[in-house]
Amino acid sequence: MVELKTERSIDEMRAAGRVVARALAAVRDAARVGVSLQELDRVARGVLDGAGAASPFLGYRPQFAPVPFPAVVCASVNDAIVHGIPDGYRLRDGDLVSIDCGARLGGWVGDAAVSFTVGRPRPGDLRLIETAEAALAAGIAAAVPGNRIGDIAHAIGTVCRGAGYGIPDGFGGHGVGRHMHEEPGVPNEGRAGRGMRLRAGMVLAIEPMLIAGGTDDYRCDGDGWTLRTVDGSRAAHAEHTVAVTPAGPRILTAP
Ligand code: MG
Ligand code: MG
Repeated sequence: MVELKTERSIDEMRAAGRVVARALAAVRDAARVGVSLQELDRVARGVLDGAGAASPFLGYRPQFAPVPFPAVVCASVNDAIVHGIPDGYRLRDGDLVSIDCGARLGGWVGDAAVSFTVGRPRPGDLRLIETAEAALAAGIAAAVPGNRIGDIAHAIGTVCRGAGYGIPDGFGGHGVGRHMHEEPGVPNEGRAGRGMRLRAGMVLAIEPMLIAGGTDDYRCDGDGWTLRTVDGSRAAHAEHTVAVTPAGPRILTAP
């Protein structure tokens, strides 16, 4: 079932989304060569705590997971696509980092992710990140009343495939509200004009994930969480929580 949010609820979700944006900005600021992923997680925890927000990630345990998620951010470096567990790994020059963060405030959840490089970037990584952001922007632009879920999926997939990148099969965006993962699913590839019709009050996490090598294959680490590319190429992830409104898409996790 899809819960349509009132204008007031969307305003409240915006407050949660602002906390996510602040946490991601703080993590990005702190991410330098030599800093560990656990230290980045602590930076995000500090922002959530300071805002009186809880983490929908910490302790989260979907069906596929052997253990509850132990952190407030996912930190996925280089060939890790999503769901990386922040550990003692210290960032190295040229790393490509994807950080995914959520916040629960006033009963509402915000969910967003950003990818960036540390130190001297590889040109290919910058192109990959730019394409992830362009795919996210295209998906958001399609999130208008009267369109369908397939229009968002098609917009995202067209940008990713057009640049020659792979899309991990079976992962994508989702409805978001009182829970982090609600209906409907928002695939990162699909046919325009298909799927559930978008209505004002729907709130969606739109989140393209791109594989640089152009294959769609991924594998899961022994930790049961971290998804990695099979070809060893790098991956990028970008995400916003977006409300479908009569005035157009409203990005609730914008800075
Ligand atoms: Mg997320
Ligand atoms: Mg999400």
